[in-house]
Amino acid sequence: PADLMPSLSPLLLPLAALLLLLASTGPRAAHSAPAAAGAALYQASDHVTPLKFDDLRAVVYSGERRRHWLLQLYHRYCGHCINFAPTFKQFASDVKGWSHTVGLAVIDSADFAQVMTHYGLNGVPSLLFIPSNTSWEQKYFSLLNSEANLMEQLLNQLQPFVPQLVPLQSGEAANSPALLEEASPGRLSRRLILDSLPSLSLRWRPNAGLSGGAVRVSRVPAAGGGAAALGESASIDELRRLLTPLRPPSAVAPPAAAPSVMAKVAQPSDSSSSHGELRPPTLDDLRSGIIRALVSDAAAVSLDKPGVWPAVRDFVRLLNSHLSARSLELGRLLRPLAAWLPEEPPSHDRWLRALADAGFPTRPPDAWVSCRGSKPFLRGYPCSLWQLFHTLTAVRFATAGASGPPVMPVMRRFIIACFSCRYCAENFDKGTAGMEAEIGAQPAPGVELLYLWRKHNTVNKRLSGESSDDPAYPKARFPSAALCSECAEGAASADANAAAFLLRWYGPGAGWASHPEGDSDFAKPAISTVDIMGFSRLDLVIVALCFACVLSVLLAVWCRLSRSGRRLCRRGLSPFRRSPSPV
Ligand SMILES: Cc1cc2nc3c(=O)[nH]c(=O)nc-3n(C[C@H](O)[C@H](O)[C@H](O)COP(=O)(O)OP(=O)(O)OC[C@H]3O[C@@H](n4cnc5c(N)ncnc54)[C@H](O)[C@@H]3O)c2cc1C
Repeated sequence: PADLMPSLSPLLLPLAALLLLLASTGPRAAHSAPAAAGAALYQASDHVTPLKFDDLRAVVYSGERRRHWLLQLYHRYCGHCINFAPTFKQFASDVKGWSHTVGLAVIDSADFAQVMTHYGLNGVPSLLFIPSNTSWEQKYFSLLNSEANLMEQLLNQLQPFVPQLVPLQSGEAANSPALLEEASPGRLSRRLILDSLPSLSLRWRPNAGLSGGAVRVSRVPAAGGGAAALGESASIDELRRLLTPLRPPSAVAPPAAAPSVMAKVAQPSDSSSSHGELRPPTLDDLRSGIIRALVSDAAAVSLDKPGVWPAVRDFVRLLNSHLSARSLELGRLLRPLAAWLPEEPPSHDRWLRALADAGFPTRPPDAWVSCRGSKPFLRGYPCSLWQLFHTLTAVRFATAGASGPPVMPVMRRFIIACFSCRYCAENFDKGTAGMEAEIGAQPAPGVELLYLWRKHNTVNKRLSGESSDDPAYPKARFPSAALCSECAEGAASADANAAAFLLRWYGPGAGWASHPEGDSDFAKPAISTVDIMGFSRLDLVIVALCFACVLSVLLAVWCRLSRSGRRLCRRGLSPFRRSPSPV
């Protein structure tokens, strides 16, 4: 091999060039790596099964003995999902004894956006009851309401599949060792029936004479005749105790009283509650927000629904027009996508392909810098989205002369059509319903800069103290007095001072921009990424260099090993000639 070194020396140049080129395309390669899995809102210890999209088919739709499933699709950054998590965990704990009949699973759509498309949903949290007799292809489910009584809804869903849950009709004999009686609607007795299913068959019937939510337990004699009352109670633990003598000795112990597993979601007493310092947006966070908005949120809605595609298309154009000339990295992603945008809505697959062609990763990154929360599910994506829109208004404000398209109308349409936190989108829709009357259809740059600032402060006030409020970064009027004392409410020229502050915090001089002045030549990619038969020019250059390397290696080996090759190389290809060995 040492002998081969001189012959290989001509390879070094193309190899070095190739390495340099690969290094220069580094961010693109890094983007396509799967995002590090951020901690989700649920763990297996919460009595739910956290699933990946790829597991869904195997876990929910197959298996020897199929169960019914209650599947929650959530998004770990959605405030409403965070607020709902303790309720769902408590519910999961309450029904954990029913795992023989129904399983509870969760999927974080922040990581697996395909799940929303598969079920044709675009709002989180979504609760899907999937009966055991349905198939993956059918995509059948019943939607439960996360704001109504979950127990009642689940019992109603299970009733057609569990005959014991149907009340005894008058004259019908209880073909079970025990009978439960309860004034309608039989919530407690139906819970007891599901608890006991594997070991004891129970039936129930309405008894209007019982009050206070009590259930009467009676033993049914095997030989028929009148049932003997064992006792009466409104407490599920007491009722379980009453039923114990009826269970066969081998029966599994009844589920213990559900411990309260109310998850502590960002309680102020958490050790993480030391205050962090708010920071201006970073390029990484702006880029992650853009990627998530387009790869995850926009890809999860039907682009051919009225108004959706124009909202997505205008959003991409807006991003491109305000950001591409300021940041080489953002320009690399946005320019090819903006150049592709068709007038008619593309198919879902075509949209994903266009994103991939433009260099977007298939899974959005989930590492945050200025939007990093004290817990993995706090701050993150929605924070980056606010920052992105403030940045857009500040960039437009900074380019006073050529101010570009207004931000607010586009932002509003995109949030309402695509933001995966549907609850947030609805609130934003209501909160900005009078926007056009207030600031006009084509608001001036300074007007929309301050409008968004005020609206965001209204949202901060509403959400202060909620469980999605990160105790390390408590929601409050922004900027704080420490950041800008002249911006305080009631201060002289507070609005003008706030505008100047927002420009410093978000504008092109804030640090995220590689070219604060904005220069379209600067922002053009060094090597054009325009498609040639489906390949970008960058791809073609890389392939050509690889080809040159392989050819050089073959030539070197031929020169070295074959007699005619050695002769030819000695005569014609001087760089391949061995240097004379020192005497
Ligand atoms: C359009 C929209 C609507 C939402 N609606 C809801 C909702 O209804 N319910 C819900 O639970 N969650 C909602 N969210 C999420 C919520 O507002 C927060 O984004 C999330 O809780 C993360 O909070 P955060 O502490 O990172 O600060 P965020 O409110 O996300 O703010 C991000 C950063 O922006 C800066 N900032 C704060 N206020 C201002 C301001 N007035 N002007 C300029 N910069 C500011 C700060 O540096 C802050 O860290 C919404 C998000 C968006 C984008």
